[in-house]
Amino acid sequence: MILIELIQNIALLIALAAVMQIVVSRAHKNVLARAVLTGCLFGIVGVLGMMTPINYAPGIIFDGRSIILAVAGLIGGPLVALISALITAAYRTWLGGAGAPVGIGVIAASATIGVTFHYIRRRAGGYLGAFPLFGFGFLVHIVMLAIFILLPDRIGLQFIHSMGIAILLTYPTATMLVCLLFQDYEEKEKTRIGIERLAYYDTLTGLPNRTLLIDKLNRSLSAGKHGEYANALILINLDRFKTLNDARGHATGDILLRAVASRLRMLLGEDDTLARMSADEFAILLQHTGQDTSTIPEFARTMADKVHISLKFPLHVATDEIAIATSIGVAMFPHSPDDTASDVLRRANTAMHRAKQNGGNQSVFFEQSMTSAVEQRFRIERELRSAIKAGELRLYLQSQVTASGAIVGAEALIRWQHPERGLIPPASFIPVAEETDLIAEVGHWVMTEACKILARDEMLGRPIRLSINVSPRHFRQSGFVTETKRILADTGADPSHLTLEITEGLLIDNVNDVIAKMIELTTLGIHFSVDDFGTGYSSLSYLKRLPIDELKIDKTFVQDAPTNPDDAALVESILAIAKHMQLDIVAEGVETQEQADFLASRADIIYQGYLFGKPEPSAQWLQHLP
Ligand code: C2E
Ligand code: CA
Ligand code: CA
Repeated sequence: MILIELIQNIALLIALAAVMQIVVSRAHKNVLARAVLTGCLFGIVGVLGMMTPINYAPGIIFDGRSIILAVAGLIGGPLVALISALITAAYRTWLGGAGAPVGIGVIAASATIGVTFHYIRRRAGGYLGAFPLFGFGFLVHIVMLAIFILLPDRIGLQFIHSMGIAILLTYPTATMLVCLLFQDYEEKEKTRIGIERLAYYDTLTGLPNRTLLIDKLNRSLSAGKHGEYANALILINLDRFKTLNDARGHATGDILLRAVASRLRMLLGEDDTLARMSADEFAILLQHTGQDTSTIPEFARTMADKVHISLKFPLHVATDEIAIATSIGVAMFPHSPDDTASDVLRRANTAMHRAKQNGGNQSVFFEQSMTSAVEQRFRIERELRSAIKAGELRLYLQSQVTASGAIVGAEALIRWQHPERGLIPPASFIPVAEETDLIAEVGHWVMTEACKILARDEMLGRPIRLSINVSPRHFRQSGFVTETKRILADTGADPSHLTLEITEGLLIDNVNDVIAKMIELTTLGIHFSVDDFGTGYSSLSYLKRLPIDELKIDKTFVQDAPTNPDDAALVESILAIAKHMQLDIVAEGVETQEQADFLASRADIIYQGYLFGKPEPSAQWLQHLP
């Protein structure tokens, strides 16, 4: 009964403190003023608690001050704890009585433990869960009961005997709930300070966000009073953050980001700006502060080194210790008088990506030579994506003929009819597409077009096969077989007239999976051809395991065979392998009669090359069919 009364009392007081704190934090922007006011409020609430206590024995009162002071320490930190402890201790001294020294001891102990946990909480990223908070409350009250032993006339022991268990069951829980309440309020407050703050500050870490950084960058650029390269933008991207986030959950990821933010904050000088740019990316803006500009790159280098080192010391996240590696890109600016913020960002980003590409955990300074290649690649990727939809791709066909000149097949070769740059050869965009899944879209388009041609009236009843080039990346996609079946069904093409050209690159890893897919496709009637044969690493034993029908001798060997004995020997051994394994042979790149004669005198093969016909638009190729 007594206990319930007491807890009701405390709850009321805490609610009061919470409401008052809200008022204070909204009214005062100044951190120090806010801390002093909050300390006074906790102190007053503690005094109010002592005014309505349980009188356990003459001169010995019992109330909820342990909770109030513990919370003051944990939430408010040392200054708040000190002020509230002084106020409550003064009041308790004034009250007097036999219990006064012990009462003051409880005040001091609770506040001290609270402050200790304030720092523990900070290291955990500013948030403690219910379990550690319960532990906190438990510790405070075990210590409180221990101090009670010092009460005169064994009253303390009596008290522990009658109330100890009940206290330890309820007080820590109350402490935990109150702390959660305040933490929750803090979180909400952070968001609230965001509805103009939200526009400029990141809610998770409280750091300036991308918008604010760009703003500062712009201001720094337009001030323009300093010389070339007087400032630096340092872009910091955490390595493998996504893996960590997926493995340990977003809550852990958030705690980690907050901890990273506070580590980085410690590295800053007065004029530096730290911002959170995106999920796992931070930026430091180093502004010219009157040093000799020639030392600025040195300065930026030192800062980048500090970032690496500071995050290598493990961060405490819940029960884990996590060390973070980062990829850092540095761009010095201004680079020219008309430099814009997005130029600077792009350069830092390029450098950062280079650091990632090189394996991460390093800093890279931007150099002009990095732009052209990277920018060009991005442009091609972007344009190609829309080119597919806009119908700018073209399918060319190049005949494959027998020694007597009969057409037995054709290779499908892609071209890009660019609205401004004209006809673009595949070498200029296929390698870019192969770096992303864009190659699968391209491959899908090619296969569909080739199958449509196979299903045309002009092709029906002719023993002509069409070969298409399949990229390893596309072939490896789990849906490749299904996709192929679907295209065959949709177009009505005869699978036994389709050949897939694969390269030896496909056979480097996951060979079993590759073979399983190949077998599934061969059962449909599809043929396989190994393209550019002789340039890769395939061994004979490899080849034997594969369900292939054809080898294509790479054009470099074909072209040099008549004149270069090494190439001649290689071509001869490929012909021998093919004969032994009963594979068809296509010689590509046959340009001269001499090359054709060299091959014809050695084996019965199929020819592809300018000597017999160049690749031409598919409609034109169809018209030329005899
Ligand atoms: P590839 O598969 O080795 O294709 C043969 C290349 O040799 C083609 O170049 C063809 O035009 C060229 N060629 C044919 N006959 C002769 C000749 O007598 N002399 C010389 N010097 N060259 C000849 P192209 O069309 O520029 O294609 C280049 C490469 O682009 C292809 O090499 C292939 O790897 C890739 N490619 C083309 N189309 C596609 C496609 O649809 N998908 C994929 N993934 N790659 C494609
Ligand atoms: Ca090919
Ligand atoms: Ca080739």
